[in-house]
Amino acid sequence: MTASPPRPQQIPARVTSIIAGSALPADLPGHDIPVVNPTTEEVISTLREADAAEVDAAVRAARKAFDEGPWPRMDINTRKDILYSVRDHLRRHAEELAWLECTNAGLPLASVLWHVQRMARNFEFFAEVASTARGETYNQTAGFLTIVTREPKGVAAVISPWNAPLALSSMRVATCIPFGNTCVLKPSEFTPLSVRRMVEVMHEAGLPPGVVNLVNGRGSVTGDALVSHPGIDMVGFTGGTATGRAIAATAGRNLKPVALELGGKSANIIFGSADIERALDGALAGIYGNNGQQCLAGSRILVQRSIADRFIERFVERSRRIRLGDPLDPSSEIGPLCFRGHMERVLSYVDIARADGATLLTGGRRAQTPERGWFVEPTAVLAPHNDARVCREEIFGPFATLLTFDTVDEAIRIANDSTFGLVSYVWSDDLPTVMRCARDIRAGTVWVNTPLMRDLRAPFGGFKDSGIGRDGPQTSMDFFTEIKSTIIPVDAVQMHRYGA
Ligand code: NAD
Repeated sequence: MTASPPRPQQIPARVTSIIAGSALPADLPGHDIPVVNPTTEEVISTLREADAAEVDAAVRAARKAFDEGPWPRMDINTRKDILYSVRDHLRRHAEELAWLECTNAGLPLASVLWHVQRMARNFEFFAEVASTARGETYNQTAGFLTIVTREPKGVAAVISPWNAPLALSSMRVATCIPFGNTCVLKPSEFTPLSVRRMVEVMHEAGLPPGVVNLVNGRGSVTGDALVSHPGIDMVGFTGGTATGRAIAATAGRNLKPVALELGGKSANIIFGSADIERALDGALAGIYGNNGQQCLAGSRILVQRSIADRFIERFVERSRRIRLGDPLDPSSEIGPLCFRGHMERVLSYVDIARADGATLLTGGRRAQTPERGWFVEPTAVLAPHNDARVCREEIFGPFATLLTFDTVDEAIRIANDSTFGLVSYVWSDDLPTVMRCARDIRAGTVWVNTPLMRDLRAPFGGFKDSGIGRDGPQTSMDFFTEIKSTIIPVDAVQMHRYGA
């Protein structure tokens, strides 16, 4: 796909659930939620919310596909062929999916083009992982052979957020179904369009009915009915930390395991020993990429005092020059925030910053141009210390918080002084500095002299309030499979004969 604007696509008038491979009729009664284009502020579709009865039907369909259907019992090569077909179909529909994503989520085309490729790659990668699953055998105990095998775990509830609907929904589904599991997916009620089309395309590619079921609606209604349903065996959730806590509590009551990918307030540490030009590019990409709406944003930019004045001046200069605009226009660098309430929340941090003694360096307002849409000016504040709320809370928009430090020890201390621990960025050409940071920073990923490189082979997830578990070949296999030990005597077993 080139970076020319994708062609306009068909939008369904009413978005309904997909259960056992079929979309529910568009004229069913039910609670409707408007689906809005954040660039134009226009209502572009309606979402019919799935209530508890509909969630039950979706879980039953997933249950039936797991308990009785071909998917968990299928030869791995056949399952792999279907997942490769899913990859190919998704690639063929990349333009359509990208258009829906930009239109509904407001994400800039450049981000979305990367997301749609990643979406297809996720299915290919984890199909391969599932086909390499191995067991264990033990014969050290005389007269016995013990074999350890892996089995699919069952039906997953999969819940995803609005900030990268295709990339994040596909990641959760792709780590789950290749192992023979089935699932019920609930994307965010703000961004249902691209994910619904993704599920349709997966069925067009030959996915058996019931393996992936889709329900839509608010977290408090549809999401809660799904997580608390007794028919599910595990929960995979990507979203905010407060929601993750609530979901883990519900799942805990039902003794269901959870994998949680949650929020962050990640430190992006710029040392005087860095290649400053690249560090500047990296700091801007780290906070303004994906409209600043990314869990792994480098939202706390720590700058060594020796270079701070010049670095901050240039950061501000570049922030002012960022192009806001229609996310479908390839030249736009930042699109609108996903919905009005979110824009207002992001802007509310300007007053919060001031109240804590921070200095507004640039931005801080709803953008004047474009005239419509929920655009926020790229915003940067200089915080007086790491206790300011703008250093502690996830703002999730184009809002950078800058701080200064003197020594490596101080930088690491500030980086770790957070309830979160998702990722961290270090910019330095001094090896001992880099190695100290890599060893001592408490975060699931440390990026050195690079922003946002994600290798599917490496586990991804957070320390502390940033989550539980990791997406990755071994870690996802461990979460989405059960292991079973089967013990077989090689010779006739001598047993005590009770009552003989
Ligand atoms: P959110 O937590 O508000 O919602 C996420 C999903 O959970 C939505 O589908 C929502 O409907 C659902 N939900 C809400 N309440 C629920 C409940 N009680 N029961 C079941 N489902 C419920 O998050 P958001 O605002 O959509 O997304 C932004 C957050 O996601 C940020 O905090 C961001 O950091 C995080 N995130 C994390 C990662 C990661 O990989 N660590 C990736 C992307 C986003």
